[in-house]
Amino acid sequence: MPAETAKLARAFAAQHDHNPRFIAEAPGRVNLIGEHTDYNEGFVLPVAIDRTVAVAVAPREDTRVRAHSVDHDQRDDFSLDTARRHPMGGWRNYVRGVLWALLDSQLPLRGVDLSISGDVPQGAGLSSSAALELALSGAVCAASGIEMTPRDLALHCQRAEHMYAGVQCGIMDQFAAALGRKGCALFIDCQSLETEDVPLPTGLAIVIIDSKVPRELADTPYNQRRRECAEAARALGLASLRSADESQIESLPDDLGRRARHVVTENARVLAAKAALRDGDCATIRRLFAESHASLRDDFEASTPEIDLLVELATGAPGAIGARLTGGGFGGCTVNLVEAARAQRFGEAVASEYRRRTSLDGEAYFCRAVDGMKVHDA
Ligand code: ADP
Ligand code: MG
Repeated sequence: MPAETAKLARAFAAQHDHNPRFIAEAPGRVNLIGEHTDYNEGFVLPVAIDRTVAVAVAPREDTRVRAHSVDHDQRDDFSLDTARRHPMGGWRNYVRGVLWALLDSQLPLRGVDLSISGDVPQGAGLSSSAALELALSGAVCAASGIEMTPRDLALHCQRAEHMYAGVQCGIMDQFAAALGRKGCALFIDCQSLETEDVPLPTGLAIVIIDSKVPRELADTPYNQRRRECAEAARALGLASLRSADESQIESLPDDLGRRARHVVTENARVLAAKAALRDGDCATIRRLFAESHASLRDDFEASTPEIDLLVELATGAPGAIGARLTGGGFGGCTVNLVEAARAQRFGEAVASEYRRRTSLDGEAYFCRAVDGMKVHDA
């Protein structure tokens, strides 16, 4: 058993006075390209990363849920039939929300004891929330003897996030945490929900730089952007911006037009990036990343001065291929594709210059593409 898993099993035993039965683990994700396109039924290209949230679980004989966040040193205790939203918010809403979504599908859940811990940075745009949801749903289903496909688990988790966390996210985060493949990016068509594994070129590393400007998605303009996109689609008489084209957008008022232009051009960039990754075409990747960032900054207005600085610093750093804002925006991280041999130097150079210029504690994460959620015996 890896050291982190053994540590979680020990924390579980100390909390619940018996051993866990299963451990489920799900990864965070970084989106290579395709930002704010998922809820517009467009294309995205995330990678599941080697940062995970793990949930240790054991079934109970009654219908109680005794949950324990190791990282927050906090507990929650409720009955399955009253899995209501927790007014204090935080991690408890994800636990209650996932259980609610599964119960709402009439699944025969058992009461459970569970402990949670993880190393996906929280609130940084690397989707620790979806990692938590997928690990939780995998753990609870295993403890209840319920078999569900990772895809179905992900759809339940998305409902939980909508209802309980108040973030109107698309399907990208939950699909990446459920369906990611080692060594690959996951192309998702968010309209048909078809997916495709896109092998990453060898010799290319993923470096994430955390601006350490925290985001709280439910309170940021994320949901506002979502509404603006829906309004733009409605004004064009379309079900979603997926089917819009650039010529139609000119008829929209300035703000909505710029939001829609980002979505339409970003969808085209995802398709081009998928092909460029397959061909190992670094020059095209560089151009697409730069265009995506500029579009998020100028048309979608989802960047911040700190994130723009990180992208600017990356552009001149050793081994850089592409750099852009990743995740919902308004803080969070940049994703950088870098020549593998120079990745360490790249990450250190960008993060240290950023710290010097901003006094923020910027940090580089060096990531590998890994498989999605898995459950094993504890
Ligand atoms: P992101 O998904 O970008 O990391 P969110 O705000 O969507 O940011 O989700 C972060 C929230 O998810 C945290 O505030 C916490 O409630 C929950 N969470 C994530 N990881 C853990 C963990 N290891 N233990 C408990 N709760 C977690
Ligand atoms: Mg999240």
